[in-house]
Amino acid sequence: MVITPDRQPYIQAITPSWYHHKVAEVSVLRLDIVHPHVSGNKWYKLMYQLDHCALQGIKKVLAFGGAYSNHLAATAAMANLAGLQSVGVVRGDFYKKLTPSLQFCKEQGMQLHFVTYAEYDRKTEPDMLADLSAQYPGAFIIPEGGANELGRRGAGEIAAIIPESYTHVAVAVGTGTTLAGIINNVPEGTQVYGYAPMKGGAYLDDVVAPWVLPEKQGSYKIFDNWHFGGFGKHTTELLAFMNEFYIEQNIPLDKVYTAKMMWGVMEQIKMGFFSNNARILCVHTGGLQGNISVANELCYGTGG
Ligand SMILES: *Cc1c(COP(=O)(O)O)cnc(C)c1O
Repeated sequence: MVITPDRQPYIQAITPSWYHHKVAEVSVLRLDIVHPHVSGNKWYKLMYQLDHCALQGIKKVLAFGGAYSNHLAATAAMANLAGLQSVGVVRGDFYKKLTPSLQFCKEQGMQLHFVTYAEYDRKTEPDMLADLSAQYPGAFIIPEGGANELGRRGAGEIAAIIPESYTHVAVAVGTGTTLAGIINNVPEGTQVYGYAPMKGGAYLDDVVAPWVLPEKQGSYKIFDNWHFGGFGKHTTELLAFMNEFYIEQNIPLDKVYTAKMMWGVMEQIKMGFFSNNARILCVHTGGLQGNISVANELCYGTGG
């Protein structure tokens, strides 16, 4: 490994009032603490991309993301740690006013390359990639969200730290890279549930299925009922839930991904969706810097 985590992840049992006598255990896998700037699943999705660069003598990585992208910020920070140059292809004209996330990328030495929404939509097309390769010779191109074989392999390392005693693993879904890596590497019989934070997240079924091993096809489900208005959107109820969860469990959740996942798990437990002997491990995929716009409304600030 080119670089190693700051802190090792650990499992924290939680005791919310809503789970008593309904399931046997609910715990949180704290990946959010592995590194202050490369939090949660991003560390895992990026680690083999950087190893690949080190092995191949590649000195520059190129990543894609929106103006608030956790992936872009994590890539900037992790490339910096590994002594690599980085380029971020950013959707929209945010050069006019950088978001805090883009400002952070810049401070980490990332060169920002702004494209229109229409250009960004062509991010997987060969001619667009050829153009970028010509502009940034020798750069290793990481697809949006780290959604490649190396990203899924890295996410698979998360499964390696999940004890066999868990019957269910719950994880928030963006590109589905983390979900797929976990599904393919948990013990047989463990069910993996993905929680989509956007409207119409059912499309993810078709995205994830080709990445899942044939023998694991029946061992996961993606739920899209708890999007709270859409990707990046939130309600006052969600923020109240995050505050309460922090006060009771001492765990900061992020508003974009992990709060919606945790809410979904809570709803399912309340409605008796899980059996009494279920042991559920909720993966804290990090992303706390995404709380910056609501830090004033959270009793823990961003929590990151
Ligand atoms: C990026 C991110 C995800 C989504 O991960 P995918 O591998 O793209 O599905 C989930 N949770 C948090 C906190 C994230 O930052």
